[in-house]
Amino acid sequence: QRNELKDKVALVTGAGSGIGKAAALLMAREGAKVAVLSRSSDEVDQTANEIRQAGGEALCVTADISKVEDMQRVYADIEQQFGRLDIVFANAGINGVWAPLDELEPDEWQKTIDVNLNGTFYTVKYALPLLKKQGGSIIITASVNGTRIFSNTGATAYSCTKAAQVAFTQMAALELAKHRIRVNVVCPGAIDTNIDDSTEKRAIDQAKEPVEFPEGKIPLTDGKSGTSKQVADLVLFLASDRASHITGTPIWIDGAESLL
Ligand code: NAD
Repeated sequence: QRNELKDKVALVTGAGSGIGKAAALLMAREGAKVAVLSRSSDEVDQTANEIRQAGGEALCVTADISKVEDMQRVYADIEQQFGRLDIVFANAGINGVWAPLDELEPDEWQKTIDVNLNGTFYTVKYALPLLKKQGGSIIITASVNGTRIFSNTGATAYSCTKAAQVAFTQMAALELAKHRIRVNVVCPGAIDTNIDDSTEKRAIDQAKEPVEFPEGKIPLTDGKSGTSKQVADLVLFLASDRASHITGTPIWIDGAESLL
């Protein structure tokens, strides 16, 4: 255990796997007490156990970020357990359905907006009473999709939410600066996680006309995806006081994938 985040309390959404799990483990290793949130209680328990086995402190939170009442409960639990909150990593997200526009159903579109965009809003909004007490750092996970890459035909709803998260970050950064709350957004390229396993794009693709996907060309790594740990290292930096003058900033972490 190290001390970069000593005495800090963090919430990490989507902490059951991938980028969120890596960030939760890293923040705990750096001394933060971490509330680990995911839809799945099994995932949450697993991450919390790993934190505790490594000597850290964790609070398990099973919640759906797209539900207002869930997110209100989350912050009540955090306040009761830890009495404060310094860091919010609003990371949970889904690919949703990737399909041509004329085949994308309104409820499929809405689901992606509900989780990725509304979920980000609720995660930030209900954190504010606690964050405003002493200031803090909010980090949002967007993507190269919607910010620099527009070649994944079919990922329209997803890309719209990711672009909106960048606008959200900049609006929030300006509004919250006077409360000493920094707000930044990380924009990963292809990262080796499970996100594709739960996406509905394949079923629709197989049944209907094919959707194009990027070929995974990543200049820095000869096409190899980045890792969750690499993104977690960036998130740790943004969460820490080392980033004390950085706010309202999107940071791409993609091995130059999006510059091709
Ligand atoms: P992942 O599927 O491994 O992890 C996502 C986590 O979010 C899981 O724990 C899942 O249970 C949780 N989650 C999903 N919907 C939720 C909801 N409604 N409420 C609560 N928890 C929910 O995926 P990941 O790749 O680690 O994705 C994390 C973030 O990174 C997402 O916002 C994603 O869009 C973004 N991202 C990923 C990549 C990539 O290549 N993996 C690239 C760019 C951006």
